[in-house]
Amino acid sequence: MLQRIRCKECNSLVEYDNRSIVEGNRDFENINCPKCGAYLTRVFTDLSPFGQLVDESK
Ligand SMILES: [Zn+2]
Repeated sequence: MLQRIRCKECNSLVEYDNRSIVEGNRDFENINCPKCGAYLTRVFTDLSPFGQLVDESK
């Protein structure tokens, strides 16, 4: 499911997907801010999650 987190460094709102497809093959993956590269959080998933900037101007 989609999660949102705000970057403490540049105040960007970042969205990432923490769902898992394959049970039992999961590992911790770091999510970094796509704008400034700051570490945001980590998720337990079998995918390779990546953060996406959320456009808050809409
Ligand atoms: Zn940032």
